[in-house]
Amino acid sequence: MKMRRNDKEIQNLAAIEDIIGRSCICHLALNDEGTPYVLPMCFAYHDRTFSFHSASDGRKIAALRNHPDVCISVVAGYDILRHPKGCSWSMRYESVVGFGRVRFIEDPAEKRLTLERILLRYAGGHSFSTDYSEEILQRTLVFDVCCDLLTAKVSG
Ligand SMILES: Cc1cc2nc3c(=O)[nH]c(=O)nc-3n(C[C@H](O)[C@H](O)[C@H](O)COP(=O)(O)OP(=O)(O)OC[C@H]3O[C@@H](n4cnc5c(N)ncnc54)[C@H](O)[C@@H]3O)c2cc1C
Repeated sequence: MKMRRNDKEIQNLAAIEDIIGRSCICHLALNDEGTPYVLPMCFAYHDRTFSFHSASDGRKIAALRNHPDVCISVVAGYDILRHPKGCSWSMRYESVVGFGRVRFIEDPAEKRLTLERILLRYAGGHSFSTDYSEEILQRTLVFDVCCDLLTAKVSG
């Protein structure tokens, strides 16, 4: 669907990925048997693909198994632009919305690599070990969403 304020639209993939790179939390929107269900999640990103980790059960995973099509959203660089007139307040923001399908990652080597990507994203220069046991690896669910469509909007 066309963006109404297309003067605020960003189409360049590198610019979109720059916003994603500066975002901290990804909101993952699911379809739980017709009921919308949105959750904040930590994530990693590469090549149009958002990656996540999770416990292997719960409402989110049940919904994803039944309805793998999802929508994601991330936000960076936001601030409130206050003004003496309340009706002139605004918001500065950069945001990305993506649409794709969930793929559960089963291969242990790919799971390890994906978990490492997620940790690296939040490491902030701290070192960490990645020698988790097979048992932990098995009970951690890892999935990704390759986005067929990524749209971005910058305001303020
Ligand atoms: C900043 C942040 C980062 C997170 N990162 C991750 C992550 O990387 N991986 C991960 O698996 N989870 C993460 N979480 C937790 C995530 O948002 C869910 O709480 C969690 O995944 C369990 O979801 P579920 O559907 O299995 O919940 P269930 O335990 O099945 O609970 C279902 C019910 O609990 C309520 N509920 C569930 N989660 C939340 C919530 N976050 N806030 C308020 N109500 C809730 C809902 O009403 C829902 O109907 C993160 C949360 C935050 C705030």
